[in-house]
Amino acid sequence: MSRCLIFGECMIELSHQTQGVLKQAFAGDTFNTAVYLKRCLPQKQVSYLTAIGQDYVSDELITLMQSESIDSSLVIRSQDKTLGLYMVRTDETGERSFMYWRNDSAAKQTLDLLSEPPKDVSDFYFSGISLAILPEHSRQKLIDLAEYYRRQGARIVFDPNYRARLWESADVARKWIDLSYDCADLAFPGGDDHFDLYQHTNSDDIFAYLDNKNIAEIVLKNGPQNVLIQTSDGRVSVPITAVKNIVDTTSAGDSFIGGYLAARLAGKDPENATRYAAKVAGVVIGFKGAIVEEKAFSELIEV
Ligand code: ADP
Repeated sequence: MSRCLIFGECMIELSHQTQGVLKQAFAGDTFNTAVYLKRCLPQKQVSYLTAIGQDYVSDELITLMQSESIDSSLVIRSQDKTLGLYMVRTDETGERSFMYWRNDSAAKQTLDLLSEPPKDVSDFYFSGISLAILPEHSRQKLIDLAEYYRRQGARIVFDPNYRARLWESADVARKWIDLSYDCADLAFPGGDDHFDLYQHTNSDDIFAYLDNKNIAEIVLKNGPQNVLIQTSDGRVSVPITAVKNIVDTTSAGDSFIGGYLAARLAGKDPENATRYAAKVAGVVIGFKGAIVEEKAFSELIEV
């Protein structure tokens, strides 16, 4: 069966509960997307490509992948590195602050440790964060891998997900994000990404910039604002229904993409895929944490 191959890093998440009490979980942008895609479309094989350690926490991540029915057979075990880690705390006003320890993670070695491209790939997904964490020579390997899959006829899916602190400079980020757009068939630019990276202040600027990248399907998301989709059929605006009780917007974009991919793979058109994706993200932001409990999804599973 052909698979959706998702490349990136999953970290240990430690979130403050009460004074001195931390809850341990796992999260990472592309990993969150893998989880939501698989939950929304159980019949699709979703494989996660990354490197982890040889320790018990890394084993627990594999157990989690198995419990989410994500294929972990491609996960590489580093000899000398392990998972990155982050801590997150929400203050009294709802503002979240993050601290990361990921500079020395096993995931950075993934493409150096990968002996050959995994086979049977229908869709290949990576993000700007997947690129940012890699050493420079591996960034080129990631682009080469995407181009290889594109030549094989796979759909290349890219989310720029710009995080300034992960990059050496905005210039370096622009170079690699542009190269990724160049090989993408489906892209999910965000209003914030484009403002921070290219100083684009409106959707026309963003679409004009992406025009010469020849991306067949562009889905421009911008928080609670309308999602704009551009395909060869033109541009459509899809309104987002307001969510009343927003608890935590972590992984709004990740879950949106998981839902969108699930819906497209299930045969929905871009407009209906957006409606479904917004429903998925709308559920996720009603709960705390990047990966919400599966029972929140019971009504959504059918795409
Ligand atoms: P990212 O996490 O990549 O910044 P966005 O904030 O653009 O992503 O949100 C992605 C999607 O999540 C939106 O397109 C929308 O469907 C949903 N979403 C995000 N914020 C809200 C909100 N305040 N109300 C309703 N839906 C939202």
